Amino acid sequence: MIIVMRTGATRDQIDNVIDKVHSFGLRTHPIFGVQKTVIGIVGDNKTQVVEKMRGWPGIEDIIPILQPYKFAGREAHPENTVIELDGVRIGGDEVVVMAGPCAVESEEQLMTAARRVRAAGARILRGGAFKPRTSPYSFQGLGEDALKLLAAAREETGLLVVTEVTDPRNVELVCRYADILQVGARNMGNFVLLTEVGRSGHPAMLKRGPSSTVKDFLLAAEYVIIEGNRDVILCERGITTFETYTRNTLDISAVPVIKGLSHLPVIVDPSHATGRSYLVEPLSLAAIAAGADGIIVEVHPDPDAALCDGPQALTLDGFDSMMAKLKAIAPIVGRTL
Ligand code: PEP
Ligand code: MN
Repeated sequence: MIIVMRTGATRDQIDNVIDKVHSFGLRTHPIFGVQKTVIGIVGDNKTQVVEKMRGWPGIEDIIPILQPYKFAGREAHPENTVIELDGVRIGGDEVVVMAGPCAVESEEQLMTAARRVRAAGARILRGGAFKPRTSPYSFQGLGEDALKLLAAAREETGLLVVTEVTDPRNVELVCRYADILQVGARNMGNFVLLTEVGRSGHPAMLKRGPSSTVKDFLLAAEYVIIEGNRDVILCERGITTFETYTRNTLDISAVPVIKGLSHLPVIVDPSHATGRSYLVEPLSLAAIAAGADGIIVEVHPDPDAALCDGPQALTLDGFDSMMAKLKAIAPIVGRTL
């Protein structure tokens, strides 16, 4: 449920309401809007006691939230969330493009990719330092050395950095180098990791688990938000179906579905959704046409030599040509790029 404070409610009135709710053993998440303050309340089945606060000074209304994801849903937060990071606005008018290699392999590989994607209009550099691999014998990533290379690439190009954190014990380490913490598809239901990412207060990009419903996905986001971290980006990256031609099946309908249910920014990863580089451009165009706030794509200077996910990586030239088409599509759906 949420408590809507009256326009002009004083700070004292707001604090009194929050203190009272805490005294019931419930948690609060105040959202200080320009006009009104709204106080979200979470806790198991005890919210009826809050009803007794109707008529308290400063309270305009007390509204139950029916959506199971209390803070990720639009009921409590009707306006779109826009995450502002060093001049990049995720969830606003601009289509935000995140691009880079699957894994950071070397300084030369990363810098070559970073310079080219920056020149073509990407705003955020991706690159894995800790790689979740199906086989324990596959390349696992360069760890902190990769994080240092990502930070150096940001320094030179001005691109922000998104990289995956796979272990709750590494959250603090990754926060030192990255602008956005990625929680991978395999870890979408790792509630210990989600909680740690939430506590870090660092912007997070949460990927949809391959077997997760939209509801599961939004509840995973809720784990991050209830720790007080509202800067969550949702990434549709394909789900498991009976189709084997593509690595996963891109659930393009999830874009408008989630935009309707949630205020959080939604981006699409056509690289992991398809596993095939020639499908990345058409599905990126489809994602933006369907209302996604951005895309994240894998780009490698030499895909044939990639240590990870080469078959789905765009070449540098391929990325350029995709960006040219995205720039043509964006204004048609009322976006800039
Ligand atoms: C990735 O983006 O590097 C990745 C492993 O993606 P996913 O978690 O979607 O499989
Ligand atoms: Mn990959």
